[in-house]
Amino acid sequence: MRSLPSCTLLLLALAAAQAPAQTPVAKPRPSILVIGTGGTIGSAGGYWTGNPTRVPIEQLVRVPGIDSVASVASEQLWNVASSAIGPTRWLELSRHVAELLRARPELAGIVVTHGTDTMEETAYFLDLTLPGDRPVIVTGAMRPSDMAGADGPANLTNAARAAVDPRTRGRGAMVLMDDRLFAARDVTKTNSTRVETFQAPERAPIAIIDADGLFYRQPSPGRSTPLFDIAGVRELPRVDVVYGYAGADSVVIDALVSAGAKGLVMAGVGRGGLTPAQSAALRRARAAGVVVVVGTRTGSGRVPVIRDDGMVGAGDLNPQKARVLLMLGLSRTSDPREIARIFQTQQ
Ligand code: ASP
Repeated sequence: MRSLPSCTLLLLALAAAQAPAQTPVAKPRPSILVIGTGGTIGSAGGYWTGNPTRVPIEQLVRVPGIDSVASVASEQLWNVASSAIGPTRWLELSRHVAELLRARPELAGIVVTHGTDTMEETAYFLDLTLPGDRPVIVTGAMRPSDMAGADGPANLTNAARAAVDPRTRGRGAMVLMDDRLFAARDVTKTNSTRVETFQAPERAPIAIIDADGLFYRQPSPGRSTPLFDIAGVRELPRVDVVYGYAGADSVVIDALVSAGAKGLVMAGVGRGGLTPAQSAALRRARAAGVVVVVGTRTGSGRVPVIRDDGMVGAGDLNPQKARVLLMLGLSRTSDPREIARIFQTQQ
């Protein structure tokens, strides 16, 4: 390379010395919105009596240090126990989140706080009905906000960390509890009281969350479109879960068919086993046009999706998740073969 004349070097050095010092430009923090729906995370007092005080989401998101993760805004959609959240509210919540994601491109992600009891069902419904490119992370707490060792603040901070991480994109809706991020499809509540209650039987979490970072265990599928379009769905069809147990008779199944169930999910014994009386009642139900999905009450393991008896196996979806999928499936078709194809896409 030809060397510059020494007077040119001198001029360059003088110019550099006189240039104003560069002030580092602060990187704007990503924005997230936390939608409060209630649950133990948003409760204080009355824990053992079942009559807690509801804490507003605006107060819950004031977690020390969360501001260094993201610029956090909040809104209170509901403030109820998750036992009060069902299909009508799933539709409302999904539409609300979809609209926020459409109207607010600056949001890195959305966090939904929710009671833990039915969290897995709401999260799975959101997963099946939202585009999935920007993360929607459902979180909650096992201990109320005023209890020693309350887990809500850590779960909220970790949900914010996951929501702003680009590696969380394309994965749909997820559940974050107790330092682990799970696919909504995989996760289930396994214990009525412990903070480590959320598990994904026979599946890995999406990521584990430690002080020094988020460690991803699965590649992102890169989803960007909803699996179900609920634009024209005003109401979800009635689908009930029927428990299998030794000696179960046909009374519950016959009553549900009379009540207008369009689908039934059996929480069968073992690998989807049914008592003779339940089998007979399900044959009558199918003859009346009810679609029957057979899963297991064991808490984990598969029931093969494709069967030759006119029913559909749940694969490794637990009965409550199979119900969510069947409701959405029935909003599209009542052909059991089509429903089986839908269940296969979720295995
Ligand atoms: N009963 C509460 C609920 O699901 C339990 C919780 O949030 O952990 O709303």
